[in-house]
Amino acid sequence: MSKKRSIETTCIQGGWHPENGEARVLPIYQSTTFKYSTSEQMGRLFDLEENGYFYTRLANPTNDAVAEKICEMEGGAAAMLTSSGQAANFYSVFNICSAGDHFICAATVYGGTSNLFTVTMKKMGIEVTLVDPDSTEEELDAAFRPNTKCVFGESIANPALVVLDIEKFARAAHRHGVPLIVDNTFATPINCRPFEWGADIVTHSTTKYMDGHAMSVGGCIVDSGNFDWEAHKDKFPGLTEPDASYHGVVYTEKFGKGAYITKATAQVMRDLGSIQAPMNAFLLNVGLETLHLRVPRHCENALKVAEYLKSREDVAWVNYPGLEGDRYYQLAQKYMPNGTCGVISFGLKGGREAAGVFMDKLKLAAIVTHVADARTCVLHPASHTHRQLTDEQLTEAGVDPSMIRFSVGIENADDIIEDIRQALED
Ligand SMILES: *Cc1c(COP(=O)(O)O)cnc(C)c1O
Repeated sequence: MSKKRSIETTCIQGGWHPENGEARVLPIYQSTTFKYSTSEQMGRLFDLEENGYFYTRLANPTNDAVAEKICEMEGGAAAMLTSSGQAANFYSVFNICSAGDHFICAATVYGGTSNLFTVTMKKMGIEVTLVDPDSTEEELDAAFRPNTKCVFGESIANPALVVLDIEKFARAAHRHGVPLIVDNTFATPINCRPFEWGADIVTHSTTKYMDGHAMSVGGCIVDSGNFDWEAHKDKFPGLTEPDASYHGVVYTEKFGKGAYITKATAQVMRDLGSIQAPMNAFLLNVGLETLHLRVPRHCENALKVAEYLKSREDVAWVNYPGLEGDRYYQLAQKYMPNGTCGVISFGLKGGREAAGVFMDKLKLAAIVTHVADARTCVLHPASHTHRQLTDEQLTEAGVDPSMIRFSVGIENADDIIEDIRQALED
């Protein structure tokens, strides 16, 4: 077998493999539907007896090529795109949890995910227990129940910048016969590949570094194919018992390592329909082609900005896991030694009020509800993304009310630092 190619090459060459005379660049299959010459063949597609495209809500060639590229970058077995990161995270859990089930989630996850899990999914009868990501193995064990179906965390938490001890969480999940799902949005597979540390499923908000230019909202789910659903048959009947909505297909028997993604597509996507538009998948693919160039530059710039902030008298605290002395520096060195992400969080000595004044004076860094794209941007979680949370919930989520989330772009680092300087001093 030839040597596995490097991730840089996959960023460029992965996913779309044109045949003789086909378009070199991934085409946008801007078509809801696909033509067949016999009615019988169309029937076989509906029965999952044959592979093929028939309706874009279920599958589209542009989307599949991009999903395959991300799958290869993560080292997974199967993947699917979704319309957003929210849809990816929802599907990843809902694919294996039903009413009456329970799952465990690191308390520091993104505010949108936390709301989805604790409020919306609760209404569906699915309960979540939030755990401190720094919990001991014993504390993690204590959170499991007989009906627990998975464990969820973020490789780098947005915006708390907590680095997940992936091996510890994977061990706990596997001791209890359930998979670990890791949202790898901030680290990206350029810096961290959770499957290499025992995670079973990875999700992404591709809206962030993967797209990289703040152009299109999107998400992705990748399955490692490593979790043995059959060994825990009683916990996952949706995968290991006949699906009445597909003439009794048993996903694990028929699709092996593709079971989880096939079920998520054939059932969850079919019924809920949060498909990514092929046009957006095309744009995402263009972003992916430079991910390996952009991510190291984001990290290099962020480290310079973090060091500058740390040196200032008027800055009360700085969180950046790439910064020596940071609480999560050691974990970052282990799981993402080449770099973490471009996002920094910090607080000014003047607290919540000073944060507003500072942000209003920034010129290059824009106040936007976004993070992790080419342009430097800034946001105050307590007044923006996490507005719904009480101060107590904010603290639990690792969000200090004074926290400024600063997303360092790929402009010249000196220009970004000068912008911060003038906003603090002038
Ligand atoms: C933004 C984000 C999400 C939600 O993704 P959308 O694409 O905005 O739906 C989920 N997880 C993390 C870590 C994020 O940063």
